[in-house]
Amino acid sequence: MIPSLLPTYSRAPLRFVRGHGSWLETEDGRRFVDLGAGIAVNILGHAAPELVSALTDQAGKLWHVSNLYDIPLQQKLADRLVELTFADTVFLTNSGTESCELAVKMARKYWHEKGTPERNVILTFEGAFHGRSSAGIAASGGEKMVGGFAPILEGFRKLGFGDLDALETEIRKADVAALLIEPVQGEAGIRPVPEEDLKRLRALCDETGVLLILDEVQSGVGRTGRLFAHELAGITPDIMMVAKGIGGGFPLGGVLATAEAASGMTLGTHGTTYGGNPLACSVALAVLDKVGEPAFLDAVAAKGEALTKRLEALVEAHPGVFTAVRGPGLMIGLVCTVPNTEVVAACYDTGVIVIPAGNNVVRLLPALNIGEDDLAEGLARIDAAAKRIEENAA
Ligand SMILES: *Cc1c(COP(=O)(O)O)cnc(C)c1O
Repeated sequence: MIPSLLPTYSRAPLRFVRGHGSWLETEDGRRFVDLGAGIAVNILGHAAPELVSALTDQAGKLWHVSNLYDIPLQQKLADRLVELTFADTVFLTNSGTESCELAVKMARKYWHEKGTPERNVILTFEGAFHGRSSAGIAASGGEKMVGGFAPILEGFRKLGFGDLDALETEIRKADVAALLIEPVQGEAGIRPVPEEDLKRLRALCDETGVLLILDEVQSGVGRTGRLFAHELAGITPDIMMVAKGIGGGFPLGGVLATAEAASGMTLGTHGTTYGGNPLACSVALAVLDKVGEPAFLDAVAAKGEALTKRLEALVEAHPGVFTAVRGPGLMIGLVCTVPNTEVVAACYDTGVIVIPAGNNVVRLLPALNIGEDDLAEGLARIDAAAKRIEENAA
């Protein structure tokens, strides 16, 4: 018999009932250092006082009105995002997947309006993850994503990760509308695109007119020590997808774009019921009040560097468990020698939450405001987990 919850997830038997800062507590009273933050979502930790008050204050006033009306908080959030980024305009959604849908529509509509609707192919990269909708799985590719869901949405062409030679040729083809890439691949195991490659991608897009779409759903909103990861390479996209951290745990996403890239999206061409409702926007404004501060971002970068050094020592101490550390800021991948599922499970046993990813990696995506003591405790627990794995292997 099918379970009452559609069984698409293999769930760990952990029942969290309370969260505070970088700690999670289960029903049976166990406490965990949370270095996963709901997969890069709870960026100010659990029950952050400023988010609780933003949410509850707004909850007593107005939760939802339709986008048929002016929503001052939504306007304020859009203005803030425009002020903080390359973007001229913003559309708010509820998730990364929805942001992917709009980014793809926007790129295709752009070329349609230019009178070249045959320019509709989106170039993507091996290992990409852009969501689970029809466009999202087509853009992500891979049998695990698309298997059994044919017919798959057309107009996506995949290139090897880091294969700039192939890109040089592909991007010049007459049917290419846009290039869609995560500046740091998340699900594939924290694989950063080298800064030089990002610069080259930007130059190729400038040369060909192809729109550069960056998926910063995981890498964005302070995660890398910059507000958005592309700032590390000194480039800007034409279109950018955000979600995850922007709502600090409240579902919210968005598409940010230049006026030019967004020029096809005229009256009536897109919509949403929930996207950008007052509750979500009040929380996101409180998130940006914190994360938009240069001093906050500098602290994330410094924490990331210090954490990476300590993890390098951990890798050296446990060569039978880990082989490498990679990733910018607080978006860190630990490449494992033993199966990553074993590492995640051992970490559960020692009381620390880490997140599995592709290419046998475990991800550390802690709250950006995690304190030194919590970070040290988390590391000690990962160290203890590695020791257990070694003892069991011996
Ligand atoms: C999580 C994620 C998505 C999908 O976001 P949802 O909110 O789960 O729909 C898309 N792209 C990237 C890079 C992600 O990490």
